[in-house]
Amino acid sequence: MTDQEFILRNKLYEYEDQYFRDMILQEGVLKDTAEFALEWSGDLCYHVGIDCISDVKVAALEDTFVGQYDAEKRILTITPDSINDPTVILHEMTHFYCHQLEKINPSLNEILLLDLYKRLSKEIDNLDELIASHAELYTLEKLEMRGGLHTVLFYLKTLDIDLKCGYKLGTVFGYGYAD
Ligand SMILES: [Zn+2]
Repeated sequence: MTDQEFILRNKLYEYEDQYFRDMILQEGVLKDTAEFALEWSGDLCYHVGIDCISDVKVAALEDTFVGQYDAEKRILTITPDSINDPTVILHEMTHFYCHQLEKINPSLNEILLLDLYKRLSKEIDNLDELIASHAELYTLEKLEMRGGLHTVLFYLKTLDIDLKCGYKLGTVFGYGYAD
């Protein structure tokens, strides 16, 4: 592991604690679900956190990609130019947690989706409108071609992080959504 990769891995732990406690079943709506699930799976909590990433890399990527999460190999890569950009790191981390929850039990994603919708609709007036335009097939197809699956859960979680960080809505999502 290089020095930069060591720094990046530490940032992942820091961001996990600040922004993803709902997705690692430590607080919020999934906490109770997780406690129930623990009865049948043993150490479920362990399997959702950053420890589950097999490798963290700082390396160049193809095309114009600045970050990438390889769900199959569980490798998170950030380009050297972007390691000081939290929005890139948070975007790729969101991919990681969505995949992990989906793998454990897709219902966890759905439960969190409903909860995020409830919470965010109190803070974002035009949330329904934002979701509708995000869900346009053309948009999703276009984004999927650029890598990763940007589901509605993914989108809502990035809006949640935008609010927590004081970013303009769409910043962590990227792809020009904040424009
Ligand atoms: Zn993405």
